[in-house]
Amino acid sequence: MRIGQGYDVHRLKEGRKLILGGVEIPYEKGLLGHSDADVLIHAVMDALLGAAALGDIGQHFPDTDDAYQGISSIELLKEVGRLLRERHYQIENIDATIIAQKPKLAAYRPKMAENMALALGIKAGQISVKATTEEGLGFTGRGEGIASQAIALLTEAANY
Ligand code: MG
Repeated sequence: MRIGQGYDVHRLKEGRKLILGGVEIPYEKGLLGHSDADVLIHAVMDALLGAAALGDIGQHFPDTDDAYQGISSIELLKEVGRLLRERHYQIENIDATIIAQKPKLAAYRPKMAENMALALGIKAGQISVKATTEEGLGFTGRGEGIASQAIALLTEAANY
């Protein structure tokens, strides 16, 4: 078994869509980034790549590459899933936390898990999405940005 962790942050800005786990969430601001800036999926991808010792998302999907401009992070997650399958890794589970003062995210968590599970070809029950505020402290607490953390466990298929 192999474990990996991921962490990401994006700045909140007016005039951007807020997309988390492939779900568009109504809010006055969205996350700024080269792709759709889906901070949850970015942390999940880094956890998966980390568990397989395959580098990080900056290496696989550079933000200097126009191919990834405005791309849905769901598409990038599919590619990470493909890289893992190619190397005969199976995903056991993923546990992720979104750190955001606002908006309230609880209602969207099942859909986020479902979207990511579909992209990876696993069951929604293998993905846990949690959300927390930071009690008004720090950049997340002040609503300047949203952070996300994730861990993932992989198993290596034997006898290949
Ligand atoms: Mg990112």
